Amino acid sequence: MPAQILDGLKIRDQIFTELKQEVARLQDQGVRPGLAAVLVGENAASQLYVKSKIAACEQLGMASWLHTPPAAASTEYMLQLIADLNADNNVDGILVQLPLPSQIDSKRVLEAVDPEKDVDGFHPVNLGRLVSNRPGLVACTPAGCMEILRRYKIPIESANAVVLGRSDIVGKPMALLLMHANATVTICHSKTRDLPEVVHRADIIVAAMGKAGYVQADWIRPGAAVIDVGTNKVTDAAEAERLLKNFPERLQKFRTKGNVLVGDVHPDAVQTAGFLTPVPGGVGPMTITMLMSNTAKAAKLRRLPVGAQAGAR
Ligand code: NAP
Repeated sequence: MPAQILDGLKIRDQIFTELKQEVARLQDQGVRPGLAAVLVGENAASQLYVKSKIAACEQLGMASWLHTPPAAASTEYMLQLIADLNADNNVDGILVQLPLPSQIDSKRVLEAVDPEKDVDGFHPVNLGRLVSNRPGLVACTPAGCMEILRRYKIPIESANAVVLGRSDIVGKPMALLLMHANATVTICHSKTRDLPEVVHRADIIVAAMGKAGYVQADWIRPGAAVIDVGTNKVTDAAEAERLLKNFPERLQKFRTKGNVLVGDVHPDAVQTAGFLTPVPGGVGPMTITMLMSNTAKAAKLRRLPVGAQAGAR
């Protein structure tokens, strides 16, 4: 039986409905959550991402501001901008769109963001809070993966979870979130021995490697839940034919467009997994969703009196 598809678009719509109501409630209490986006230079992909984040704010009734320093901006310029945003009480979330141009010290800039406004969850203070399972702002993509698991009622407690990838923004926080939810977690990376065997033991697999179709269908234990974080643009015709030979419609689209988006899990996994996030339409939409959720949460935590923060953590 083919896997049940874990529909990220559907969950995004559910969470957006909830957030819209929450933003309206906050406005009644005099707080309009606001996100300041910082986009340096003219990177077309970054422009598109930031545009969709601003559009999401508008859809939810949140305030948003777009700052566009020139491509030649210095680290000092960026630090001053971040200091101004930290000091602005209307700004609840600061989003620095990555990558920054090479002359800018990205680490210094990200660490200058007030941890209470760090809606990307990248600041070491928030990473530290996550390690020790204290309330804080959690990186959006792994937080989105957890929402998918929870809303589809995939059992996490006592499950064997395997996380493929150990980056600071996906793999590590993902493993910590699963561990705090009482899964038994194995973290794999490029030096892991016998990956197929490790993956085969998993009830939950989270793939975040950046390698198109790497995880083979027969590595996956029948019935396992597979969360595919990978977003790989395949442009090579032979690779597309190999990955999509059982998906004639997608292959046809590739032939017309010249590219196709494929996850880190081979598309044939739909025949072995019990549950599977599609690419696109699985984890992708959850990242912006959790950014919006973090902005509302940051607004509540920073601006409401402690007794009125129900549901913020
Ligand atoms: P990253 O920083 O490049 O990290 C990749 C990780 O995968 C590394 O830890 C690497 O191991 C591991 N890896 C690479 N080859 C491997 C192999 N053969 N076996 C086992 N592990 C291997 O990537 P990232 O930023 O975490 O992103 C991962 C993927 O998720 C990318 O496709 C990215 O585009 C996608 N992504 C999607 C979203 C979304 O919204 N859907 C958001 C963020 C990222 P080492 O540490 O040993 O090098």
